[in-house]
Amino acid sequence: TLDTARAEAWIRALAAAVAAHEAELTALDAAIGDGDHGSNLRRGFEAVLATLDDAPAASPGALLATTGSTLISRVGGASGPLYGSAFRAIGHALAVPDPDAGERPATGAPAVAAALAEGLAAVQRLGGAQPGDKTMVDAFAPAVEAFRAAAGDGVAAAARAAAAAAEQGATATVPMVARKGRASYLGPRSAGHRDPGAVSTALVFGALAAACR
Ligand code: ADP
Ligand code: MG
Ligand code: MG
Repeated sequence: TLDTARAEAWIRALAAAVAAHEAELTALDAAIGDGDHGSNLRRGFEAVLATLDDAPAASPGALLATTGSTLISRVGGASGPLYGSAFRAIGHALAVPDPDAGERPATGAPAVAAALAEGLAAVQRLGGAQPGDKTMVDAFAPAVEAFRAAAGDGVAAAARAAAAAAEQGATATVPMVARKGRASYLGPRSAGHRDPGAVSTALVFGALAAACR
């Protein structure tokens, strides 16, 4: 299950990964965008860590929803509202009571799979990107599908499958021509680089797998 401790471990591992990969994310964004993706996310997750240190979260849903709200209010670039909406949607989905568990929210692998799908839907509602547009959706969508397909094996195995799928999804953005976000201004010259947001989405799912091990 994705209990509160694991949800917090996920976000703390993600904040650490973002800090460790800040230069790489910024270099990727410098190639096809405006060179701020690493610093945008580093600042956002520093603010998230401060909220975690301030007040212990009551539930995984509350923790992830707060993470999302903090990213929305603290990150200036496109990625802040997009990741923020995703984490808010994931948190809200996990806060819905499980019909099989009375009033307790569901946090087993099937519920987490459904919540991650809500996160992807939020990104696509806000940004309008489809798979193939060379955005974070190209890592997020295969990760959600891999998690769902492996949910029968539990959260740890599903998260490992999702992390591998997100990595592959990020690599698959190299030949794509961007149709959304700043990289789309480059047209065909956006090909030949990984999309920075797809690479940070691989960090999101890698951190989930590390937290659920
Ligand atoms: P900005 O582009 O405002 O500087 P960032 O550099 O932080 O913001 O984030 C850029 C990343 O955001 C891109 O690499 C891409 O993955 C993602 N992105 C941008 N626009 C969209 C969109 N409409 N839908 C999905 N993802 C998007
Ligand atoms: Mg940028
Ligand atoms: Mg920017």
